[in-house]
Amino acid sequence: MFGSKQAPAETFSVRLTDEGWRVRLSPEAYRVLRQHGTERPGSSPLNFEKREGVFVCAGCGTPLFRSETKYESGTGWPSFYAPIEGAVATRTDRSFFMTRTEVHCATCGGHLGHVFPDGPQPTGQRYCMNGVALDFRPAQE
Ligand code: FE
Repeated sequence: MFGSKQAPAETFSVRLTDEGWRVRLSPEAYRVLRQHGTERPGSSPLNFEKREGVFVCAGCGTPLFRSETKYESGTGWPSFYAPIEGAVATRTDRSFFMTRTEVHCATCGGHLGHVFPDGPQPTGQRYCMNGVALDFRPAQE
């Protein structure tokens, strides 16, 4: 599609124009999801979310992480040891003079955060997510 800023190898089933995302998202969610921003650590109420349920993409609503994979990393960002299979994708991020693995929603391409190899078992992975890029859906009682 003309005007797409995504890598040609990766296509997303949910696509909006930049203006469409601006209208749909809060300014802070837009800054994180669509401009690769990072929220201030400790700022997300989802740091304290302990209920059973699912964390969905704030951009498109796709379920991304289950509550049982969430853990307290001490970083100030909601952290998980594994995503729902196939829900996220990664690419190498060389910004800020570091090489990190960027994590984004596989459905809409929205930037979620980064993954680091210092998480707990069973995966050893730490998915360090921006809470503003997620919405929590509690399980039905
Ligand atoms: Fe999404």
